[in-house]
Amino acid sequence: NQNPVSPWLAGLNTSQSDAVTSLQGPLLVLSGAGTGKTRVLTSRLAELVASGTAKPWNILAVTFTNKAAREMKSRIGDMVGPMVEQVWLGTFHSLAAKMLRRHADLVGLKSDFTILDSDDQVRLVKQLMAAENIDPKRWPARMVAGVISRWKDRGLVPEKISLAEAGDVANGRMQQLYKDYQARLLTLNAVDFGDLLLHMLTIFQHHPDVLADYHGRITHIMVDEYQDTNVAQYLWLRLLTGQRNNLCCVGDDDQSIYGWRGAEVGNILRFESDFPGAKTVRLEENYRSTGHILAAASTVIARNETRLGKTLFTSADDGEKVRVNGYWDGADEARSISSHVESMQQNGAHLSQIAVLVRAGFQTREFEERFIAIGLPYRVVGARFYERAEIRDAIAYLRLIAQPADDLAFERIINVPKRGLGTASIQAIHIQARASQKPLLAAAIDLVETEELRPAARTALGRFVQDIGRWRNQIGSLHQGDLARMVLDESGYTTMWQMDKSPDAEGRLENLTELVSAMQDFDSLQGFLEHISLVMDGDTVSEQGEVTLMTLHAAKGLEFDTVFLPGWEEGIFPSQRTMDENGAIGLEEERRLAYVGITRARKNVHISFASSRRVHGQWQSAIPSRFVQELPAENIIEDMAQGMGIGRVSPAYISGASDIVGQQGYGPGWRRMANRQQQGTENRFVAETNGAAFIRGDRVFHQKFGMGNVVNVEGDKLEISFDKAGHKKVVSGFVSKP
Ligand code: ATP
Ligand code: MG
Repeated sequence: NQNPVSPWLAGLNTSQSDAVTSLQGPLLVLSGAGTGKTRVLTSRLAELVASGTAKPWNILAVTFTNKAAREMKSRIGDMVGPMVEQVWLGTFHSLAAKMLRRHADLVGLKSDFTILDSDDQVRLVKQLMAAENIDPKRWPARMVAGVISRWKDRGLVPEKISLAEAGDVANGRMQQLYKDYQARLLTLNAVDFGDLLLHMLTIFQHHPDVLADYHGRITHIMVDEYQDTNVAQYLWLRLLTGQRNNLCCVGDDDQSIYGWRGAEVGNILRFESDFPGAKTVRLEENYRSTGHILAAASTVIARNETRLGKTLFTSADDGEKVRVNGYWDGADEARSISSHVESMQQNGAHLSQIAVLVRAGFQTREFEERFIAIGLPYRVVGARFYERAEIRDAIAYLRLIAQPADDLAFERIINVPKRGLGTASIQAIHIQARASQKPLLAAAIDLVETEELRPAARTALGRFVQDIGRWRNQIGSLHQGDLARMVLDESGYTTMWQMDKSPDAEGRLENLTELVSAMQDFDSLQGFLEHISLVMDGDTVSEQGEVTLMTLHAAKGLEFDTVFLPGWEEGIFPSQRTMDENGAIGLEEERRLAYVGITRARKNVHISFASSRRVHGQWQSAIPSRFVQELPAENIIEDMAQGMGIGRVSPAYISGASDIVGQQGYGPGWRRMANRQQQGTENRFVAETNGAAFIRGDRVFHQKFGMGNVVNVEGDKLEISFDKAGHKKVVSGFVSKP
């Protein structure tokens, strides 16, 4: 016996309840930011269960990020209780991973396959390219890996790649590389992100019984942020939906921001023709933001030509105008924003309701440093933590213990910390592995039984494989957090950092401690490792009481009272690269990002730009983003540093600034900028690149060998005398100036 009006229906507007109570057939909710799409999706899930239309385990709900999945889970949990555990709820990746583990054998994998991150992926591609003698200078491995990923996004297996498609990338060897890459992944019992869906598509296509089984289990499918689905995701959804046609998608074409990663906004625009009989609901009331914020966002996005166009209104007050601030440089910007946040906190604002959203990951650093300096609690949302070298090492240990066939993990840690296993020993292990067709660890175990290695190396390797075996035996009996601590201590890894005199060693030890404590929250080592491979893309929880620092991409779907949007400068935002690569289409995607950014805020938006910025140690001059100029004057308040005008850039502003910056000794960037302006050169961000050229005597840093001095230069090869590693020849691409 249900309540006449279920609690989740109360308070919804007519269109929203229409969507929530339309439980059969294809349904599209297409509407602007903050109109309650996600809320509709959540409420509809509750309604499906409460009305008896579907059992929790009959429902599959896809969210865009792990964070969104967690949020939805807790919202639905509040409505339907513990039954929420039984819903197929998660991101495309996590749901596909869960399915693939059940059917791994159908594509030649074991169910405990490893999910590689993008770094592993690139390393693998690099190895394959070397074997094929493809010049990594001409065709960077990251780019080649990117081509493969985009094919996977489009649901294309190697056999489907046409010659024309493959083009001349990697000397026209792309299709072969893709094949080799897939074969190599299978021998490693590994998949990359794209494979999770691609393998499931293959399975559905070749094993109708498996698909039929899912059709029996899953009767209702719901998808949030549908505008950002790629072809593979679309095909997966279509196959799973089958004849029942109970697919409900919500999204906003104006928030399509993953085109560069293969998302097809066309999916949402085609919904009605793809799913005949589809019902479309449009929501027009924005419940998130105040009037000025909504007006500013709507005006900016209205400039885009390729959009459906929609009207949004709010019943909220106009609220505060959007603030636009100009600063002299990035440090000034970070300093001002930090103290602003600090004073908000002193006035009672909760830090978890404040976010700083940047265009590119590198922009967080300046804020991080400032936040640390003034002791402001903050959290960087993103894979950053897990990208740190010490964390990757620790995880490689754990991966190798849980998945002994994980060769990439083996390679990463076999001689970290140094245990006297040099190039010769490692080569011997590789030869043994190839000859016996075994994973590296298994080959190493065999090798210890032979006389191949020098006695010292043999002893060291023997100890290493024994340790791995011993730790492996502890899985399940020891809590994974305790196991991790034990591994780090007994392997000598912790000691390695304790002995390290470099200033960041302390921080690394703290990170390791943090890792161990983060592991407490999981129910098994496997569960933790699975999580690690899935937290990508700015996607960890934002805890209470911390300012959130993240990219605009990661902020999609979220909301905060106050949002700071720094770095609105031509070249940074809109990003020069996107515009160079994708022209007008790229610019429109950048503008959608601006729209996403502004619409994250409930009450306050602070947009800012700096006139001068130091990128990679070089001063660059910048002019305000064209998006600043697109903001409607009536909805903003300008607050410039003395003498600065807003982006309606006047020569006076440029030359004035140039003088001041010049006086402060900030390098020539400003003057050059001013000259270009005066000569009428395009309003573009001028990058003074680091000019990766090296000369004799340069002090340089190499990832593997550490610091050293360049003693000779031959083309892109450098001869370096390293402080610790001795004399070596390396390719300049791997070396940077500290
Ligand atoms: P985005 O496009 O950014 O993902 P959205 O359309 O998914 O936004 P929601 O996040 O679902 O919007 O809702 C925005 C805010 O408005 C939330 O705080 C939500 O709780 C609130 N909201 C939605 N519908 C209503 C309503 N009918 N009454 C009051 N508040 C509402
Ligand atoms: Mg949403």
